[in-house]
Amino acid sequence: MAAVERIVIENCAIATVDADDTEYASGHLVLAGDRIESVGAGPAPAALENVVRRIDADGHLATPGLVNTHHHFYQWLTRGLATDHNLFDWLVALYPTWARLDEDMVRVAAQGSLAMMARGGVTTAMDHHYVYPRGTGDLSGAIIGAARETGVRFTLARGSMDRGESDGGLPPDFAVESLDDALAATEATVREHHDASFGAMTQVAVAPCSPFSVSTELMRDGAELARRLGVRLHTHGSETVEEEKFCHELFGMGPTDYFESTGWLGEDVWMAHCVHMNDSDIAAFARSGTGVAHCPSSNARLAAGIARVPDLLRAGVPVGLGVDGTASNESGELHTELRNALLVNRLGPHRESALTARQALRLGTFGGAQVLGRSRETGSLEPGKLADLVLWRMDTLAHASIADPVAALVLGAAAPVTASFVGGRQIVADGRLLHVDEEAVARATRAEARRLARIADGE
Ligand SMILES: [Zn+2]
Repeated sequence: MAAVERIVIENCAIATVDADDTEYASGHLVLAGDRIESVGAGPAPAALENVVRRIDADGHLATPGLVNTHHHFYQWLTRGLATDHNLFDWLVALYPTWARLDEDMVRVAAQGSLAMMARGGVTTAMDHHYVYPRGTGDLSGAIIGAARETGVRFTLARGSMDRGESDGGLPPDFAVESLDDALAATEATVREHHDASFGAMTQVAVAPCSPFSVSTELMRDGAELARRLGVRLHTHGSETVEEEKFCHELFGMGPTDYFESTGWLGEDVWMAHCVHMNDSDIAAFARSGTGVAHCPSSNARLAAGIARVPDLLRAGVPVGLGVDGTASNESGELHTELRNALLVNRLGPHRESALTARQALRLGTFGGAQVLGRSRETGSLEPGKLADLVLWRMDTLAHASIADPVAALVLGAAAPVTASFVGGRQIVADGRLLHVDEEAVARATRAEARRLARIADGE
């Protein structure tokens, strides 16, 4: 058997995001194969065998790779539309276009979304895909293939919608699947692609879209399916006041009670947004271990409100960060969510004590790994965990005068990514993706966005 190859990184600041928030002003990391072998102060131990590469990371901050916990890749083709709408009006404006998606469009949109995130320090991505127009090919396979090319660790949340307008739902009838088709296709996707092993590159979650686009049967049966298959559950929850009103009118209860009644609270569940929650909703999430994907930019863009992140954290609820789809967060970058999570929450009732810069970094790394069920594997820099990490350049004009590198990363301009590793394999060098041609992806996304717009216009 070949000896394990080591990469030594030295001479950089390190924020480990371990349980004690251990940091080193100048430290080292040793990567051995796909794992972190050691992390600590000063230079790496001498006499290491089989060192294939030594990186002098002077002027850099090393952190765990960023973990995105909520996204809709397909929206890369419909950015910058319906820019002055609330969630329900925005959805109604965009559903007819989204219903015309095909496999080529979905593949290219995934490539664009993944490229944008990966070059900005994301090492674990997810896509909540819930638009499956009939007869449009293998959309899930296309998305998973794009993630594999980019080189990020990936969770596909196989979404679904079966409550069309004629059943009191928000999407038009032609944009939804039948209950049986949605369940069968979701089970097939899990069986074909989900890898439960340590260090898996691809996992699949069961992810009906939202209470206002999914039948109660699909919520219940989806939860049962996920538990039978041993995979996680994801959906949108408590995003807007309109959703709350919808739930009271249709189900006679608020969203959290509805989720509880359909089997949707538990350690194996994470939910996007969770903006409109009262104290008893938060207590129910804490009691059950249900996780939250906090999406501050999207919540602001759609005027949804401010999620109670400080209260969720104090109650012990696992919280990660999400870009959300790029039709409601055009930047598509996760590092900006660190900053926006901190800023948006300081506009809430907790004011300056809402979130610290270090808490924001934790949300974007370890918190994300927690809600994806992967915190034993990734999300912090500790021996034995996967070598998923980023070297952020902190010695340029943008950051050089900020003494605290974590404050510089969270509060400063977007920091250049000198290197990003996933399982010890480098995927970004000097801000450029190593395994994807960014210009080719940009050209293809433009062409597919135009093709979708033409088809949607009925030309
Ligand atoms: Zn979403």
